[in-house]
Amino acid sequence: MAVKISKDNVQLSSKRTRVAFRSHEGSWYLSCLEDESGRSLVTGSPTGSMWALRAKAEGKVVGTSSQGLSSRIRATGRSSFEMVWPAFMLSGSKCNAKLRLSLVESGFVSARLGVSCDPPLSLWEVDFPILEGLAAENATLYAPYGYGKAMRYEDATRYRGTYPSHHCTMQFLAWNIGPTNLYFGCHDRSASTKTLEFSSQPPTFRCTLPVAGMGEMAARYQVPHPAVLGAIPGDWYDVARFYRGWALRQPWCRAGPVASRPTPRAFRDVALWCCASGAPGEVVPKALQFLEYFEVPMALHWYVWHEIPFDDHYPEYFPAKEGFKEAVGKLGAAGILVMPYINARLWDPGTESWRHECAERDAAKDSDLKKYVEVYGSKVPLSPMCPATSAWSRKIRDIVTKLAGEYGVHGIYLDQIGAAAPKLCFDPAHGHPVGGGDWWVKGYRSMLEQVRREVRRINPEFFITTESNAEAWNDLLDALLMCNSTEGDLAPIYPAVYADRVLTFGAYIFRGDLEDSWAFRAKVSEMFLWGTQLGWLGFDVLEPKFQCEAEYLRALAKVRSSTKLLAEGELLRPPRPDPEVEVIEASWELWGKKWSVRLPAAQATVWRGSDRSVGVVACNMGNAEAHLKVELNTTGLGWTKARTIRMMESTELRSADPSLSGGGLSLTLHLPPRSGRCISSGTPRRRAVR
Ligand SMILES: [Zn+2]
Repeated sequence: MAVKISKDNVQLSSKRTRVAFRSHEGSWYLSCLEDESGRSLVTGSPTGSMWALRAKAEGKVVGTSSQGLSSRIRATGRSSFEMVWPAFMLSGSKCNAKLRLSLVESGFVSARLGVSCDPPLSLWEVDFPILEGLAAENATLYAPYGYGKAMRYEDATRYRGTYPSHHCTMQFLAWNIGPTNLYFGCHDRSASTKTLEFSSQPPTFRCTLPVAGMGEMAARYQVPHPAVLGAIPGDWYDVARFYRGWALRQPWCRAGPVASRPTPRAFRDVALWCCASGAPGEVVPKALQFLEYFEVPMALHWYVWHEIPFDDHYPEYFPAKEGFKEAVGKLGAAGILVMPYINARLWDPGTESWRHECAERDAAKDSDLKKYVEVYGSKVPLSPMCPATSAWSRKIRDIVTKLAGEYGVHGIYLDQIGAAAPKLCFDPAHGHPVGGGDWWVKGYRSMLEQVRREVRRINPEFFITTESNAEAWNDLLDALLMCNSTEGDLAPIYPAVYADRVLTFGAYIFRGDLEDSWAFRAKVSEMFLWGTQLGWLGFDVLEPKFQCEAEYLRALAKVRSSTKLLAEGELLRPPRPDPEVEVIEASWELWGKKWSVRLPAAQATVWRGSDRSVGVVACNMGNAEAHLKVELNTTGLGWTKARTIRMMESTELRSADPSLSGGGLSLTLHLPPRSGRCISSGTPRRRAVR
């Protein structure tokens, strides 16, 4: 690892990566980033910037970037240097910036930026890092959207997601070119609000941070994360595993693995979700019928259990519909876990409680100190509350403890915490830095901790879930609803990072999916293979005309409940698809947008259990029997030849025609039509379930 500095060239190099900067008319830009073989991942641009900032001067936003500004460079160590812009003018005010770069042990470049400006200018947003001029030939973008997306460059015109939310669940982007990936990480342990973006003309990565204390004068701002840049050989899986190495040490992984964190056993065992809305008289008999048919541990997500309409009059959830308490008791006695819906983010300003409880005080407010207003399907204007206010946390805590104590529900769904991006709240009375910063995540973390503490005094087995997966609350939520992730171009990047740390459940399954059987089968196959608790669907599936779909779902749910691997395991590198297996094309639709999804009729994923056993989970959604070939990389699993032979002879792997081939173990799983199967190196043989 070394740094070389000359008049117009600076170079940082390690075994893994070479990064160079050039000076163009006194202004420095990133001119190349190469992998270990010398393949160029960033070709750079002399008109490119490394950072940009926007500031407010007399109510107007003005901006500048490193492009065109002269800077000084000096080495600060054997493998580090700094670039300083000691004084530049913006709208009549003096500003400065300092960028410190170093090579870290793993061969990556770590970069930190600090900026400041003199009054009357006030900082607003900072873009850092910016990587312009990504090499574009045959490239694929990996983005942390929902489960994760792998989008061919030709199709990926733009990606933009604000962290933490469904649109940006983790803090990195990656750019695959053949055997290598460019890694663009913003390793921020404070989980501050930020937007990750890819724009295609020219291909550019950018992270934008609204500063903590936006618009306050005499501003200094230190970007809260090091930018971590470098090359990673392989594909999305390798990128996910690199990120995992950092992520497991962060506060949101504090609870430890699913196998040992305090998620209730009964909840971990849930294999199937049904989703219902309305009166106990209708919901209870159907839910019992659901259980009778599927015969697996299940949970019920109950919407509109209250008298008020959906997305209206929040948070005046009480009274519950007549008979709700008795219904929860009856379902619980049958073994069904009941989880009602509430929204943990919105208050309806048209309610009595808004006036009586002075809720306006605790609403998130824009830079004009006006409350935000959002309108959903109900057409009722609703206001997102500021999670940093103790009154809002108390409100949610009181609703949940009442539901647990008086009604005996087994868990709670707190809508929108994971899905919705942070609002920039400018209310100085709330006690958090205005605008950006880490207070949004901290606020919800504190709310969730409070809810957990209080509710578990009533029921130690109580569980808490939210909509969508955003990593910042992984440790405080027992499961994340993956409903918004039913789109095209998915890759299980989130499960590759976090499958053994937090449970996931469900997908949007519409009546149209049941009517178009392949759409349904593709959705449930993907959930099954990626370790997500299945279903989250209505009672339509029990109609006789959907018998085929119901049978397939039941087969997969039974496999899921026969193994701990899918609830507690670590998702290992997915095996290559078997080229002999037919590829099915299904059509998914979400919020008016159509997606064409291509999946092999039969496929498998590989898991490592908390007991270190390795299992292959496979399903066949097709109408014909499949003989699915799965190659296990035994070197990657750390198995010696002797151990592999022992596994072949004495475990369930024996039932899959095992043979040694090259550096691996070749298995053939015989899968009847519409069936699932799990075979493990840790348990004796078991039959296929259909
Ligand atoms: Zn606030």
